[in-house]
Amino acid sequence: MIMTNRLDRGFYKYQKEFEDKAIEVLRSGWYVLGKEVEAFEDEFASYIGSKYCAGVASGLDALYLAFRALDIKEGDEVIVQANTYIASVMGVTMNGATPVFVEPDEYFGLDASKIEAAITKRTKAVLAVHLFGQACRMDEISDICKKHGLKLVEDCAQSHGAKFDGKTTGTFSDIACFSFYPSKNLGAFGDGGAVTTDSEDYLSRIKMLRNYGSAKRYYNEEVGVNSRLDELQAGLLRVRLSHMDELTDEKRAIAKRYLEEILNPLIILPGIRDKADHVWHQFVIRSPKRDKLISYLNDKGIGTIIHYPVPPHMQKAYEYLGHKKGDFPIAEKQAEEVLSIPMYNGMTGSEQTEVIEALNRFKD
Ligand SMILES: *Cc1c(COP(=O)(O)O)cnc(C)c1O
Repeated sequence: MIMTNRLDRGFYKYQKEFEDKAIEVLRSGWYVLGKEVEAFEDEFASYIGSKYCAGVASGLDALYLAFRALDIKEGDEVIVQANTYIASVMGVTMNGATPVFVEPDEYFGLDASKIEAAITKRTKAVLAVHLFGQACRMDEISDICKKHGLKLVEDCAQSHGAKFDGKTTGTFSDIACFSFYPSKNLGAFGDGGAVTTDSEDYLSRIKMLRNYGSAKRYYNEEVGVNSRLDELQAGLLRVRLSHMDELTDEKRAIAKRYLEEILNPLIILPGIRDKADHVWHQFVIRSPKRDKLISYLNDKGIGTIIHYPVPPHMQKAYEYLGHKKGDFPIAEKQAEEVLSIPMYNGMTGSEQTEVIEALNRFKD
């Protein structure tokens, strides 16, 4: 059986380093928001190329706190792509604001050419999601935000280290949001997240909000939340971050083989955007025969997963927004055709050959 992801392989790659760090943290006597978190925040900010980083409890919390720090609230609108993972949208609605969906482009990113038509008097921000590890058209998106005086937030939960025009994703926006959920390119061994920003004001507001709205212990300036990164996760993330270039290169090599060797007219390979350095969080193919392909691969012992079967505007959770099927036909068609095939650090050459051969033998 070849599964879509093998988190154990990612652990065994650096087993000794992870275990040594875990023991060090366990023996330290300090477990939440301490020196490992501070060191990780510094190292991650410098990896991204931002001035500041604040560790939080998850990617969703990073999004929630980013919009909250930008004072985005009820009555405000945030433009976001219609094909994203639901957490991007929840970060907006948890603040009481309204998501305004825009179709994705052929690279699964926010379609920059469709943003302006969605701007209203209530629009306060744009949320660009670098889905599957490939940057959106950040030059055009940044220009539109500047022209209309909108805040820009990046959802980098799937794009650690991805670049557009030589600049790392997370450095184009007012605040960038990251997830360290175990399956992400930079994964922890539990939940974790972070924001990066160049603004000292946003940083201090988010650091206060993540700790009950308190900057000084037991003095609370506003009603915050508990969204702290723990020392164990931060320490283990530091180990993984120190190998990030190698991990990304490995994924790129896997993607390169797939792109060169999968040859089947029933399978549409992912496109690479001009000027984008993809980090391949997922390798997402498309097929008009997707459902048949899933069961064919399953019979051969090859796992696949759909990212994502139901776009946010058609989820029950967002029924109240009043959308219906047909409102975002491009996002809806992607949901019917996309399929993520096995892609993980530690994937062997023979596992990859098996996947490629099976895909090439698939017939209608
Ligand atoms: C994973 C993910 C999130 C949420 O991160 P969690 O850490 O799971 O809360 C948000 N946006 C995108 C695009 C994601 O892939």
